[in-house]
Amino acid sequence: MIEITMPWFGMDIGGSLCKLVYFEPKDSTKAELDSEVDSVRNIRKYLTKNSAYGKTGHRDTHLQMNDIFIRGRRGTLHFIRFPTSEMKNFLALAKSKGMANFVTTVCATGGGAYKFENDFQREVNMKLAKYDEFDSLLKGLQFVDRYNCSECYFWSNPTDEKLCKKEQYDFSNPYPFLLVNIGSGVSVLSVNSPSSYKRISGTSLGGGSFLGLCCLLTGCNTFEEAIELAASGDSTRVDKLVRDIYGGDYARFGLPGDLVASSFGQMNSREKRSKVKREDLARATLVTITNNIGSIARMCAKQEKIDRVVFIGNFLRVNPIAMKLLAFAMDYWSNGTMKALFLEHEGYFGAIGCLLQYHQ
Ligand code: ADP
Repeated sequence: MIEITMPWFGMDIGGSLCKLVYFEPKDSTKAELDSEVDSVRNIRKYLTKNSAYGKTGHRDTHLQMNDIFIRGRRGTLHFIRFPTSEMKNFLALAKSKGMANFVTTVCATGGGAYKFENDFQREVNMKLAKYDEFDSLLKGLQFVDRYNCSECYFWSNPTDEKLCKKEQYDFSNPYPFLLVNIGSGVSVLSVNSPSSYKRISGTSLGGGSFLGLCCLLTGCNTFEEAIELAASGDSTRVDKLVRDIYGGDYARFGLPGDLVASSFGQMNSREKRSKVKREDLARATLVTITNNIGSIARMCAKQEKIDRVVFIGNFLRVNPIAMKLLAFAMDYWSNGTMKALFLEHEGYFGAIGCLLQYHQ
């Protein structure tokens, strides 16, 4: 059987989503193309001509990066994701496209690189070259940020809903910064230089908790549905605010009346429960999870004496409500001294980073 030695895939198999980055070389010579194995050519065509794979695989075409150099080759980076729970179907699809006809190596990170290693070998003849997820995350982030000058952004005027808008941020001089990765759970890294970082904190209340609780409380079934419900909901019908307790501000300690005093604090009342809508519950779940992460991030930044906090992870996908809340929380509670930053390829840095680390 032919052994394909160029590993052009990077995979981050997380608790909720599998992120797949595919590097398509664009500088192949005619001789290289002529000698290419049929199955390899077919897989390339299948991946690059489609943007949906099976029932649940998607290519994020808006994130595609062209004219990228990796290991001396010029090409295009494609970004694909599917739910980790669909791994069996993904492997069956890969097999049906001829992936098992040759032996290849795929760079992989995340817990699933261990959990599914034998399945990859058995089903599609793939060896996994495994890399640490935080090393990969940072390598991917540094690489993308170098290539894409519009990668980093922030939300200006976060304390004014009408004026708040997305703006580019010059992140060419990034160190030190705090990195908050909001995936199924949350990890907080303090990053001091390209090669020096430490994991300083985390919380199990992350994107997985938001989605799980939202499904329980509203009967929704997807992340997109949960976010859509939250967008038209009102969390103040669910939470107990300072003004619900004080009748106004708690001026002595500078706590405004519209501040949440108790998340979900109104839901002990049967009457209030009977009036609440699914949308309100979705919004309150989003606000609760996001504010808790914001609060942990702010304490970590203070402890590390760092003023720039970069939020990444797929919880932020199609989720401007959470990003604006984080921007507001960082700005407001630090009296304007801390800044929340965001990156366009939010959930893909681990997958990119492990692809870059491969050494034969
Ligand atoms: P992990 O590596 O733990 O899977 P991710 O960075 O991929 O972490 O983020 C997973 C989180 O992203 C989910 O818990 C959910 O909140 C959110 N999310 C965004 N889009 C989706 C989606 N299409 N399906 C499931 N979760 C999604």
